Order: sequence, then C-alpha cells, then structure tokens
Amino acid sequence: MKKTSRILALLIVGLFVVFTFTNILAQSTSTAIPQRSDIDAKYKWRLEDIFATDQLWEGDFSKVDALLPKMTEFKGRLSESGRGLLECLQLQDSLWNIMDRLFVYAGLHLDEDTRVSASQELTGRAASLRTRARQAVSFIDPEILAIPQPKLDEFIKSENGLKLYQHYIDNIIRMRAHTLSPEEEEILASAGDLADAPENVWNMINYADIKYPSIKDEQGNEVQLSEERYYKFLESTDRRVRKDASDFFSSAYLPYLNTLGATLSGGVAKDVFYAKARKYNSSLEAALDQSNIPVSVFENLIKSADTNLDPLYKYISLRKKVLKLDELHKYDLTVPLVPEAKMEIPYDSALTIIESALAPLGKQYVADIKAGFNSGWIDVYETEGKGGGAGYSWGCYSSHRYMLLNYNNTLDHMFTIAHEMGHCMHSYYTNRTQPYIYSGHATFTAEVASITNEMLLMDYLIKSTQDKAKKLYFLNYYIDQLDGTFYTQVMFTEFEKAIHEKKENGDALTSASSREIYSDILRKFYGPEVVLDSLDDLRCLRLSHFYTDFYVYQYATSYAAAIAISRKILEGNKEALDRYLKLLEAGDSDYPINLLKNAGVDMTSPEPINETIKLFSTLVDEMEKLLQ
Ligand SMILES: [Zn+2]
Repeated sequence: MKKTSRILALLIVGLFVVFTFTNILAQSTSTAIPQRSDIDAKYKWRLEDIFATDQLWEGDFSKVDALLPKMTEFKGRLSESGRGLLECLQLQDSLWNIMDRLFVYAGLHLDEDTRVSASQELTGRAASLRTRARQAVSFIDPEILAIPQPKLDEFIKSENGLKLYQHYIDNIIRMRAHTLSPEEEEILASAGDLADAPENVWNMINYADIKYPSIKDEQGNEVQLSEERYYKFLESTDRRVRKDASDFFSSAYLPYLNTLGATLSGGVAKDVFYAKARKYNSSLEAALDQSNIPVSVFENLIKSADTNLDPLYKYISLRKKVLKLDELHKYDLTVPLVPEAKMEIPYDSALTIIESALAPLGKQYVADIKAGFNSGWIDVYETEGKGGGAGYSWGCYSSHRYMLLNYNNTLDHMFTIAHEMGHCMHSYYTNRTQPYIYSGHATFTAEVASITNEMLLMDYLIKSTQDKAKKLYFLNYYIDQLDGTFYTQVMFTEFEKAIHEKKENGDALTSASSREIYSDILRKFYGPEVVLDSLDDLRCLRLSHFYTDFYVYQYATSYAAAIAISRKILEGNKEALDRYLKLLEAGDSDYPINLLKNAGVDMTSPEPINETIKLFSTLVDEMEKLLQ
C-alpha cells in the first residue's frame, strides 16, 4: 500500500503487493530475528528453479545484451512489411521474457537479505540493462501508430503470425487520438523529471525529514512512533494509547502543512497538464483510458456508495455501543471489538485451513495450490535483513511464482497467504495458457484473483466456527476489511475527483482548501456518530496514493467483482466457477472490463457495487444479532 509507484512500476513483470489493509499493522515486534541459515529449507523459496548458478544468470545477461543491437535494426522499418513487423514483435517478446527472468531473480535474491552487496549489485545491473532494453524497444509503439490503418489491416491479413498480436496492436491504435507528434512527444518525455518533483518532495518529507514524536505504550514505556507503529497502536485496546498515537502522529505533520498542500497541488497540476496535452476531456478520463475503463464504472462506484451509507452508519453506531463510549472518535474505529478472541495461527495450520477454504474452487485448484505450498514457491519467515514488508508475490513467465512472507502467526498473515496465492495461481494458469505477450494482468483484474481467495477464506472461517466470540471476531474482521477496502477507498476516490475538478476549473488548491474538501467527505462517510478531531483531515496530505492519479478506486471495484464471483461460487454455481477459472487463464488477452464480463461480472452496471453494500449490511446485522 505504501509504495504505490513502485507497485505500478513493477506490475510490468507482475509483482503484487498485499493490500489487506490491516496487514501492515501486524509486524512482529520480536527482537530476536533469526538468521537465514537457521531456517529449515522447506520454509525457504528455491531461486535455483530460475537460475541454478550465477553463471547461468550471466549467460542470460549476455544474451539480452546481444539482442539489443538486433532490435535497433528494425528501427524506422516497421511500416515496410508485415513480416518485418512480426519478427520485431517476436524479438521483443524474447527480449522481455529473458529480461524479466534476470530482473525477478535479482530482486528476489536481494529481498532474502537486503544488506548483501553482491545482491545489490546484481539488482543494479539488471535494472540498468532493463533501462537499456526499454530504450531499445521504445520506437515500436510510435511506429505502429504511424502505419496507416488500411496498411496495418493488410499486414495482419497477409501475415498469419500477426493475428496473435491483434489485441496488442488494437491497444496501441486506440491511443492514436491521444498521441502527439514525435517532436511533441519528446517534449512531454523530457518533462518527466519535472513532473515527478511533487511526489519526490512528498517522499522526502514523509520518509526523510519528518520526525515522529514518542508516546507511552500500554505498559508506560516511551516508544518512538513510526508509520508502522502508529497503525499498530491504533488497534490498541487501551484508548489512551490510541488517542496519543493519533494526536502525536498527526501533529508531526503540522510544520509541513503548507509544503504538503503545495506538493499535492503540484501533483494534481501534473495530471491535469498531461490530460490536456493528450487531448482528454479530463484527468479522470485520461487515467481510466490507460486500461480502457469507461468513466461510467467510476461514476457508478461513487454514486452507489454515496447513496448507500446507512449500513456504514449502522456499523459505526454498533461500535460505539459495544465499546460503551459517549463519544466515538476516529481512533476508535480501528480497535477490534472482540480482542479476547484474537488467535495464533502457525504457518502449517494456516496452509491446511486455506486448502479447505478454497475447496469451492475445485479439486484441481486445491491440488495446484498444495503443489505450490510444497515446491519452493514460498519464503516464509522473517530473517535478519529480509525485505519485502508484509508480503508479495512475484515471478516471471519462464518460472513458477514466488511468494515472500514475514509470517507472524496472525490472522492477517494467513489472509496474506490466501491473497498472494490468488495472484500466484492467476499467473500460473495464465502462463500455462497464454503466449508471453498476454501474460500480464491489469490491476483491475489482478486483484480479483487474490480477493476472491480472501472472500472464500472469510466465508469458511465464519461458517466453520461454533464459538460465539470467534465468530464475532471473524465478522468484525470481515466488516473492517470491507470498510477499509471498499468504503474508505471510495472516500479517497471522491477526494481525488474533487481536487482534480477544482484544478481543472482553474481554482487554487491549497493546504486549507484540500483539508476543507476532505473534511466534508469525512463527515459524509462517518455520519453523525463520529466526533472529528481537528487534525483528522490531515490524512489527505499524507497519503502517497494521491500522487498516482485515480488508482485507489480499483481496490473498491476489485473487491466488488471478487464478492460477486465468490458469492456465485459459494452457491455452487458450476458455470460461474468455470467462467472464473477461464478468467484466471486469460491474462491480459482482452480489456479488463471484457474479461470480467466474460467471467460473469458486469462492472459497467451498478449491480456488483450494490451487492457489496448489501453484503456489508448483512454482516453488520449478523454481528448485531450475535451481540444481543
Ligand atoms: Zn494483491
């Protein structure tokens, strides 16, 4: 969640970072972190499945090096013949196929122990080779665009091999109206550093300059706040700790308020500039067009959520009642309502539970995840110097997937496994079915594969326990997940929409006006029961997501699509299951909206969003009944 831009950059080779929202809260605080050599081999991934020796990595490195000049031979010649175009596209696939392998291997190696300089060097070399590869292929899209349509149609008709690339080419062609002359494109490209400045300044404030104060923890120990500890303290059953964490964390941003307002304004100005330069009607339209998502999908989401806030208000009232508070503040929205039911789940038990929970996906799916669990895909435990945060899955076309965990026996981390395994299986089925060119996944569909697994796990946990406290704990967890991934993301989305519109109307965007907009949205979403404190609205200035235009709405839409799919599968709908498994095989061989439509979910209709809200409402009712 915290490193969106890195996520986006790495999506090219298919890395997906966990965004179960509470995962980052549950980092182990244990002081004795084991060494990598202390860990049993069965809990470590097997990178030798990609390259058995470093020499083999070097061999592939040289191969890419040798392919680059071959690629340049095609430059300026793509409009000459269909055969030439085909050979160029095939060479591009071979090049990236090897490049991904080099880059993924180096990156995974580095995360085993980020302190090892040899791994840092390997990653550095892979990254610079990748930059050279990107430069080498950069002529392809503009040259395809420059081929007149009748000629391109003729190429595809006469050169059989090009039919495979039809969707790839269509995707380039549909950008024609928004692609400028080569000279203008060059000017836009050269403004890249300039355009990145707002986010860079934000990063410097947030990760380098800011000094978080200390607070006293539950035992009275003085603890220096960090972002991670802040989220952890917000779950504390000691209200004083929650309040202090909230107040002190926010107050650290006060010296930077005007600067943060200016950087946010600069970030939005960048989006508006590029959208106008590329002849879009709005920055929203420009952002959504990248994955060919109709604006109506976005509008549906906001409209449906906005007109259905009552279930959220009801949940908030229920919280107030259970916590027995006269006043409910924002820092009271994150504490578990049944903390006594918190459980420890050892890694091996988590795998067994997940296998049972995913049974509705069919025998083959379960057999395949079992094989994954036992075949060196997963690096389980935290060790000295290990990177990667709460977890991710990653891989390349020519190897199996890999999953990094820092497993700490919590429910959150069990959900991380289910989530990441969803991504792993998505790639596993796609790579088996699709050619390299369609082996990627747009965020819009990728997260459906992971969240569907979470939904099935959640349903299984709630249904398989008879213990009332545990059932309540799971229900509360589920509701909070839905709140964090659906309602909160729609809230962020509305804020993004409002600040972009303000800029597009030529109005000034300052720290004060941004906070005012965000305050109004907060009041609308939290309703009359939550007493907002004066610094609550600062959150709009400290979220990295607002530097990646219109990204977070996809968390809400993916969640809605996954709910729609998992409900049908849980009802035993065989056709729905088959269509879902087909989606996992489809990669990005079509546009995300079409892929989901084929899987039985029409994201252009309000139905999936309404179903999500209905589920939220049912869960709150169920919880209320159990609490009586
Ligand atoms: Zn994910």
